[in-house]
Amino acid sequence: MDGDSVNAFVGIGSNLAYPSRQVESAIDRLSELPGARLLARSSLYRSTPFGGVEQPDFINAAAHLKTTLSPRALLEALQGVERAHGRERDGERWGPRVIDLDLLVYGSCQISEPGLDVPHPGIAERNFVLLPLSEIAPDLDVPGLGPLSSIAINYCEPQIERIA
Ligand code: AMP
Repeated sequence: MDGDSVNAFVGIGSNLAYPSRQVESAIDRLSELPGARLLARSSLYRSTPFGGVEQPDFINAAAHLKTTLSPRALLEALQGVERAHGRERDGERWGPRVIDLDLLVYGSCQISEPGLDVPHPGIAERNFVLLPLSEIAPDLDVPGLGPLSSIAINYCEPQIERIA
């Protein structure tokens, strides 16, 4: 990896088909992505679902990659990992899912293009993103939002706990 590589942060979630295993195996795949190196990963967190759909609890985690891939190429690689886990896009926004990978932060970039918003718009609103990300990058500055540590944890949200 050369000096042009960028720090990228990925959020991972699953609530189907042994979710902890799904998240662990997605992290394994991230560690093998061509053009990326896995620098850190968070613990696993269990969160109760968000969005009013009756469904199993989610397991969430975050990963820190150093990458030479462009933001779009990295998103495509993440979608490749989702497909490898049998994820089918059924259009239900808050429904259950075998695996979901989100590009949370890509260096200092702010991108708003069809199909690609970075930083991910959910960062500031979701404890299941904020907590794992804070564990691996407490000093992260989120482009457009400021220090991660200044983004408040939302205690009105459904419950979340660190499990492993
Ligand atoms: P989801 O249901 O959360 O997997 O939504 C995936 C959709 O969000 C895809 O169509 C992506 O192109 C789009 N998307 C936009 N920005 C991002 C991002 N930063 N990370 C992941 N997906 C994104």
